Amino acid sequence: MSGGEELLRSKGLRVTRPRLAVLDVLAGGGHLEVDEITRRVRDRLDSVSTQAVYDVLGALTRAGLSRRIEPAGSPARYEARVGDNHHHVVCRGCGEIADIDCAVGEAPCLDPNTTPHGYEVDEAEVTFWGLCPTCQARRGVDE
Ligand SMILES: [Zn+2]
Ligand SMILES: [Zn+2]
Ligand SMILES: [Zn+2]
Repeated sequence: MSGGEELLRSKGLRVTRPRLAVLDVLAGGGHLEVDEITRRVRDRLDSVSTQAVYDVLGALTRAGLSRRIEPAGSPARYEARVGDNHHHVVCRGCGEIADIDCAVGEAPCLDPNTTPHGYEVDEAEVTFWGLCPTCQARRGVDE
């Protein structure tokens, strides 16, 4: 049994070739847009519709096997790194995304000083913004 099969079974999900292919693509790392995931899945399977890939990503994300992030101004992206509440830094120049470890490691890692009456806070959405090394170098040339 492959690692992907084990993962799917551990979450009570049916093992299908598209699910295995998407898991395999995500296991390669990075924060991938659906278009990119679809392209890579098609390298592995003969034919799979974009809708099928969306459906698989939805199921994997609900099961906690993938994580969906959607920084402002960027299409949704998916990654296989789950369960550590890590954060992201997004480059304002090119949109590249990198991981930043969460100092606490679980949500919510920020405690609000005051919580509105009756609310139970379970997540703080933290996104850092900046410039990646490539864009920093380019900025130096432009100036
Ligand atoms: Zn950049
Ligand atoms: Zn990440
Ligand atoms: Zn954190």
